[in-house]
Amino acid sequence: MFPLLKYGDAGLEAYMAGVSPDAVRRSLAKNRHGWFDLLNLTSEAARPFLPQMRRVAMAARRRYYGKTVNVYAPLYIGNTCVNSCRYCDFRRQHAGTARRNLSLDEIRAEGEAVRETGIDSLLVVAGEDPAVNTVEHLAQIGRMLKGMFSFLSLEVAPQSEDGYRELFDAGYEGLVCFQETYDRDLYRDMHPAGPKADYDWRLGTQLRAGRAGFRMLGCAFLLGLGPWRREAASLAAHAFHLMRECYEAKIQFAFPRICRTDGGFVPPCEVDEDDLEQMMLAFRIVFPQCGMTVSTRERPAFRDRIVQTAADNMSAGSRVTPGGYAVLAKENRADVAQFVLSDGRSPAEVFAAIRANGQETVFKNWDSRI
Ligand code: SF4
Repeated sequence: MFPLLKYGDAGLEAYMAGVSPDAVRRSLAKNRHGWFDLLNLTSEAARPFLPQMRRVAMAARRRYYGKTVNVYAPLYIGNTCVNSCRYCDFRRQHAGTARRNLSLDEIRAEGEAVRETGIDSLLVVAGEDPAVNTVEHLAQIGRMLKGMFSFLSLEVAPQSEDGYRELFDAGYEGLVCFQETYDRDLYRDMHPAGPKADYDWRLGTQLRAGRAGFRMLGCAFLLGLGPWRREAASLAAHAFHLMRECYEAKIQFAFPRICRTDGGFVPPCEVDEDDLEQMMLAFRIVFPQCGMTVSTRERPAFRDRIVQTAADNMSAGSRVTPGGYAVLAKENRADVAQFVLSDGRSPAEVFAAIRANGQETVFKNWDSRI
């Protein structure tokens, strides 16, 4: 559980087992919501209320985001990693993955390929390799890419507050860090070695970045590691905590589902699409102002539906391997992805689907500070 919660696993489960249909109705009818509403709306008792939840979530989404859909693309700059996450084929011990760190010229070529699609918001992603991805190196990449994109965010190894300050000054404004699981024992089991084994250091990542000035703080757990209702309760508590501590930043949720990997990992607690939808609707209702991303891990039909009721942000045309947009094609080499993509549509096809749903693709809706 999120450490600041007074509830333990048993107390939480007892509460959720006791949620009544009336409690769900009351949570749906409220204008302002708290942590217990999230529990009510993610409970089993709320499952028959999915049609009502869709209506309430859609109204909340409309109120804060209108018909707009932000689009972004991830750019993998390298996949060497010193960690041992059991669920990831980029882990240090996995010999089946071809390793590579892109040069600055290659990163620029990748950025140009993304920019040609019209996408103006970039998430820079790398495995955790402190010898390669130093703050100075990431800052150099940020300064280069900032000239090409309106919004840059980072999904790399957690840094110190000073490190984040330097990265913010280099042009990054968003940070994404999945806690993976809020359950300490499960976390220890899934991350047996490497710097990522430090649960508390990872948990403090958004706080350090927020204090350094980052204006978007992305939070998530990996769907499939632990029981999703318990993890969702912790994610919500984490978000409320960050909203108090970093009130100038926007919290952005993601709900990444993990699947079986080529390296043999089987998720212990699989989450199906109905579970995923219930959770996303519940978060949209309880946190109407927060951002919410749906990634290309999900099927096109699900993405096109959930972006009308809950998510306001989606990736398009993603490549999840270093060099996936331009460099590998030039070298005639295959794409070795971090995870399986379920939506293989091009950015243009995603934009067309957004238009067909009566929504509007937004490439830029902010101006960064000087
Ligand atoms: S999840 Fe991230 S830190 Fe863990 S092995 Fe994969 S790339 Fe490395």
